[in-house]
Amino acid sequence: MVTYDKAYSTELKDDISASGANEKYIGKTNLGQIVSKSIKHNDTFQCSSNCTLKLTCANIHVDFTDKKNINKLEPYFTNRNGGRHDDGCFRVIEENKKYVGTSNKTSIYERNDYDLIIDFKKGIGLLPSSTPTQTSNVLGTNSNISANNKLSRNNNLLTRKRTPHTKDIKKIITMFEEHELGNNPFNIFDSDKNPISFDDIFIPISDSKISNDFAIYYGQAHVQWFKKSIRLVFSKSTSIDDTGDFTSPSTFLNKDIFIEEKKQKLFSQFSRLADDYQKAIEEFKKTGDKSVFTKKLYFRIYFIGKFKRVSNYINFDTESCNIPKSLFIRKN
Ligand SMILES: [Zn+2]
Repeated sequence: MVTYDKAYSTELKDDISASGANEKYIGKTNLGQIVSKSIKHNDTFQCSSNCTLKLTCANIHVDFTDKKNINKLEPYFTNRNGGRHDDGCFRVIEENKKYVGTSNKTSIYERNDYDLIIDFKKGIGLLPSSTPTQTSNVLGTNSNISANNKLSRNNNLLTRKRTPHTKDIKKIITMFEEHELGNNPFNIFDSDKNPISFDDIFIPISDSKISNDFAIYYGQAHVQWFKKSIRLVFSKSTSIDDTGDFTSPSTFLNKDIFIEEKKQKLFSQFSRLADDYQKAIEEFKKTGDKSVFTKKLYFRIYFIGKFKRVSNYINFDTESCNIPKSLFIRKN
């Protein structure tokens, strides 16, 4: 699910941040100051002033000055019911500008704003940065090397039309989600400039067989405590070989490794979700009511890597990737 920090309030007739919406809804700032409750309804937000895509503000009702809410997620806007952006939507136009980057300020840098090279290749993953063109250094002093390189870069700018690249996985995922919503402003290419589609690199775990190339796998999943570890399991199954066995891929999440990789926050998120899942299991044992397993206990996971079979299981192949850095979670 795509999330946004800002939206347009039809009540205020103005853009507002998610935390601003929260304050104006509960009538209190994050510092506890009383303000007027100028936002009355959570169904009055849209994408931008010229785009009627409906957004709602998650946790708009939460009083963050109350200590018991300390673990609640900060408010954010999201599009719960799908739908697409209106043509000419200001946000889509802004986002496009962001993706193609504005770091290069020179006007001779000619480019097509709708072409984008994704430096991610199925079977390989993210590609290393391309090395800049080397110019031979006939004079052999350091100052001349840099002067030469500068000159060569400038020449490239003049003569070569460059297509922007991205190797930012988070951005690639957001673009994919926009694409799912029907917003597809880009022609995307692989690093060899061959046209590709998002389906080439994003593969759903959806009860079908997969080729098990290194790619971005995604689907609904949940986490569950298993003694002192957390087990992450895709909701749907897949098959990676000719055994005909379909299994839901899973992996164990090891807290120490997440800490080592500075992904402690992500681990905490998983551990909260596993706690909630545990509560649901206990509730279910008491009441037999399956409805305790609400949508909120599940989430969409993106896993960048591949899988491997270990007897009857399909595990995430931890040798092909660094698990804490290969998981991206999107709450339902
Ligand atoms: Zn829009």
